Amino acid sequence: MKIFNTLSGRKEEFVPLEPGKVKMYVCGPTVYNFIHIGNARPMIVFDTVRRYLEYKGYEVNFVSNFTDVDDKIIKKAVEEDVDSAVISERYIKECKADMAAMNVRPATVHPKATEEIDGMQDLIQTLIDKGHAYVAEDKTVYFRTSSFKEYGKLSHKNLDDLQSGFRELKVTGEDKKEEPSDFVLWKPKKEGEPYWESPWCEGRPGWHIECSAMSRKYLGEQIDIHGGGEDLIFPHHENEIAQSEAASGKEFAKYWMHNGFLNIDNKKMSKSLGNFFTVREISEKFDLQVLRFFMLSAHYRSPLNFSGELMEASKNGLERIYNGLDRLRELEAKVKEEKLLDSEKISYQESLDLTAKFEAAMEDDFNTADAVSAIFELVKLGNSTAGSDSSREYVAALRKTLETLCDVLGIVTKRNKEVLDQEVEAMIAARGQARKEKNFALADEIRQKLLDMGIVLEDTREGVKWKRA
Ligand code: AMP
Ligand code: ZN
Repeated sequence: MKIFNTLSGRKEEFVPLEPGKVKMYVCGPTVYNFIHIGNARPMIVFDTVRRYLEYKGYEVNFVSNFTDVDDKIIKKAVEEDVDSAVISERYIKECKADMAAMNVRPATVHPKATEEIDGMQDLIQTLIDKGHAYVAEDKTVYFRTSSFKEYGKLSHKNLDDLQSGFRELKVTGEDKKEEPSDFVLWKPKKEGEPYWESPWCEGRPGWHIECSAMSRKYLGEQIDIHGGGEDLIFPHHENEIAQSEAASGKEFAKYWMHNGFLNIDNKKMSKSLGNFFTVREISEKFDLQVLRFFMLSAHYRSPLNFSGELMEASKNGLERIYNGLDRLRELEAKVKEEKLLDSEKISYQESLDLTAKFEAAMEDDFNTADAVSAIFELVKLGNSTAGSDSSREYVAALRKTLETLCDVLGIVTKRNKEVLDQEVEAMIAARGQARKEKNFALADEIRQKLLDMGIVLEDTREGVKWKRA
């Protein structure tokens, strides 16, 4: 399996630290609002990476944080005149609901920054003790970038260039630091903000330290994969590397994976431009399975453009898969032949080849776009070769393969209940119409079809009632 590693700038063979196990950390959202569709991209991408690794038999320990102490959260709490925990708890709950609707599985652990202060302080103290951090005059604790020789290795930046760049960028309130590129590990409290006791001052952590501390606590000093959106490469991930590696003296993460950005109508998503959507808003127009399918239609490292038309195309694509599967399920229930027929052997082999094609795409740096094409080819194979004279073995093999491959991509293959209910209602109406027209053969046929789907009809005085058997 090959993974593009931002650290080396090329695809590398994936070799886990410990055979059969993968330790993975993905930076999660800052919870001050509903998540937007840009935030959904890393969630879907890394959930798919995790699913594929599990499909390959790895035991995956997946950690993803919630940043629940941050200026934006505090600002919103002031606006609503509530505690900032009220804001963060509300949006963590909403985020989890959106994740479930996108079929993004919960992480093994979802640590929250406010519950991990001890671990952060411990790490900061280690950095101070080793000379990699210092307490400035105003009691802010900074990381001393000049003490970490490899600073810049992830973003391929040179520390000297960075210093001169930063010198021009005057950040108010940070003039007590030694070097312009030094960054905050701990800062003194401000009036009205949440704060914690510490050996340095009452205050709160800087943003970068939380991921280093949580990753260390839940996964150990070294991990296999660290992920996030490409905007996090610098400074966030560069700073995580500096903190973790300066403290442990070991390489922090082996493979750094970054997803490309999601744009809207070829422009950067931004509230001020008015092209900004939350996942919740999209869920009013589309099943979120469509959003997931749309995200997987592109390679995760490419920029991806979001538009209504592209979502419609994804909806149709997904529908094609569902229809193919429904047909196979129906056939499986009614075909007469049990064992694979000689005439089916070539098609059966083709289905195995398509599974291999799917896997080859995923092994090549998780090329989900090509993996989706293999699924479409499998649907086509089913539509053109499976029929009422097929064997159950062949039809079942196609059905199972499709379900398995869809599941690896996190595509739910059981249609949601609402869609199913609408279909049942439509079939019942068609049966009623057939009876009215005295076409009893057709009416019986529809009734049997419904029975095959596990739907039992009951003719009552108030009309037809139905239930799932
Ligand atoms: P944030 O809450 O801003 O820290 O973002 C949480 C995650 O979403 C990070 O991994 C970001 O890189 C990612 N992200 C934010 N905006 C976008 C976008 N427009 N496209 C893709 N990923 C994004
Ligand atoms: Zn992080």
